[in-house]
Amino acid sequence: MPIYEYKCTKCGHQFENLTNTCCAPSPKCPKCQAETEKLMSTFAASVDGGSGGHGHDGGGSCCSGGGCSCG
Ligand SMILES: [Zn+2]
Repeated sequence: MPIYEYKCTKCGHQFENLTNTCCAPSPKCPKCQAETEKLMSTFAASVDGGSGGHGHDGGGSCCSGGGCSCG
């Protein structure tokens, strides 16, 4: 399950959020309930092999035709 990292646009608080879809709306800041922006996924960032198999560019487990409508 991917982990997305968000940063509050108001107070700058950063937090991680588990999500089961790549197109879930950004959650509110848990501290001040302000809008947040999505940062680079720590899940994807940890993949550093160059042999493919990461990301959602073709054969991912999320955007390949499930209940996801981000395509
Ligand atoms: Zn905040």
